[in-house]
Amino acid sequence: MQNRIGHGHDIHRIVDGRPLILGGVKIDAPFGLLGHSDGDAVLHSICDAILGALGRGDIGKLFPDTDERYRGADSADLLTRVVELMKGASLCIGNVDVTISAERPRLGPYRQAICARIAELLGTNAAAINLKAKTNEGLDAIGRGEAIAATAVVLLVPAA
Ligand code: MG
Repeated sequence: MQNRIGHGHDIHRIVDGRPLILGGVKIDAPFGLLGHSDGDAVLHSICDAILGALGRGDIGKLFPDTDERYRGADSADLLTRVVELMKGASLCIGNVDVTISAERPRLGPYRQAICARIAELLGTNAAAINLKAKTNEGLDAIGRGEAIAATAVVLLVPAA
């Protein structure tokens, strides 16, 4: 297997009454993200990027939101399943680049914890994970604080 690149994008609606989980880390906020699972747009975008690199479709195909088994699912468990597929293809993480688009809350203080958690789930070190957090300059649904989105690019390399 040669190097493989993949891209993922995800967006979830902001709602009251749910915990905010991004990159597998609980973020202190008065709202969370709506979703069949825990709504972790960051881990979902990474799942899709890895699946894209593997040529295995997307997260919705693997874990359908019509399947009751995945209701309230911990996205870390979903990513772990995707990582098993990656390992099965004799590939491992080269590097991951993630951008979170969120008008609030400020994510800078969580950057290190999120990178560490993503690295742990991917079986790599935190130096292989780059995380950028930006606002949407007040524009569109993200800018109005109605949604949070994440985009990820991953490079998979042959496992040693
Ligand atoms: Mg999602």
